[in-house]
Amino acid sequence: MAVLPIVRVPQPVLRVKTKKVRKIDASIKKLIDDMIETMHDAPGVGLAAPQVGVSLRICVIHVPGDDVVTLVNPEIVRRTGERVCPGEGCLSLPGYKGDVPRAEKVVVKGLNREGRPVRYHAEELFAEAIEHELDHLDGKLYFDYIGSIDDLTPYTGHEAEDEEEGAALGSE
Ligand code: ZN
Repeated sequence: MAVLPIVRVPQPVLRVKTKKVRKIDASIKKLIDDMIETMHDAPGVGLAAPQVGVSLRICVIHVPGDDVVTLVNPEIVRRTGERVCPGEGCLSLPGYKGDVPRAEKVVVKGLNREGRPVRYHAEELFAEAIEHELDHLDGKLYFDYIGSIDDLTPYTGHEAEDEEEGAALGSE
């Protein structure tokens, strides 16, 4: 397994609709394993293939405390409810976060790493991650829901200092 470089905004591969995986062969399995290692190394809750420069319908998700989920050729078959997910971020745009309108619950189907059909009824962070990663497979980024990168909040990783830094930025 290897940690792959993460592609960042505005690289064009992040804006392309990805292609379906035809066959889950050894090279696809290796890609999945590398994506999982890259996601853990970042660390992040999810990673989509375009974020490592591969335009295929594959994503991996790891909600803390749950098992790693691999989705090949995934499809959301049901969305229920509405909510705003506060402070959503993306490994392809480090240093920013934003509040994103999402569904409350989603049902997703796809194939796992072994090519077996899987279906998940997701809510909370898992549902948010599924919507976020599947958007990547269609060339969509979370700030598309908000407006532009200019509408995002700079994120330092130190929540308590956000206000002070915001004030400092504002006075410049
Ligand atoms: Zn992302």
